[in-house]
Amino acid sequence: GGFQSMGYSFPVMKGITKRGYKQPTPIQRKSMPVALEGKDLVAMARTGSGKTACFVLPILEKLIAPVNKAVAGKNFRALILSPTRELALQTLKFVRELGKFTGLTSAAILGGESIEQQFSVMSGSAPDIVVATPGRFLHICVEMNLRLDNIKIIVFDEADRLFELGFGDQLREIVSRLPATRQTLLFSATLPKMLVEFARAGLSDPVLIRL
Ligand code: AMP
Repeated sequence: GGFQSMGYSFPVMKGITKRGYKQPTPIQRKSMPVALEGKDLVAMARTGSGKTACFVLPILEKLIAPVNKAVAGKNFRALILSPTRELALQTLKFVRELGKFTGLTSAAILGGESIEQQFSVMSGSAPDIVVATPGRFLHICVEMNLRLDNIKIIVFDEADRLFELGFGDQLREIVSRLPATRQTLLFSATLPKMLVEFARAGLSDPVLIRL
């Protein structure tokens, strides 16, 4: 089956078509139905496999549903954590291109950029989707006393690199602030012991996907 048979709505399908995707890649075929079902997921996937769309498209589909903002509540409902600024910016580009027809808003919270601007982005009507590097995100969280109870879905992208770069403590701190009812998706090229332990503690009965 193609993207259509996975149940994507018209605005998301329009983004997929505009981006030129005709058929899902193997990792997309395996992981998207699980993510769309609302289950936690550990997916072993490398860059080039189409892994970014594996979480971006289900996020768009899940957040688009309550059109009424009053029903959706305060924004900021999805968080994507990336190991580097470069990857975060590339992911934000996917979110904006694939989500072009969804009306959802997005922003990046990255180290090395104006913190004042990021404070103002996160205050008031925050974006629906935030792509962030862990250090700066946690800093903003603490400084603004940001409530994370609205988060429905969190993604750890390139999780092995997140740990290699020493973000382990920050990741655990962020997880401890999330609502228990969230959905958690973890993508990683490799699964070192530390990551397995992190997944065991922070994910709820995850489906393991490998090619
Ligand atoms: P990624 O592994 O997420 O970095 O994606 C690698 C490249 O594959 C990117 O240029 C994506 O836009 C592209 N891509 C992702 N999914 C598909 C698809 N289903 N069909 C064609 N290209 C895709």
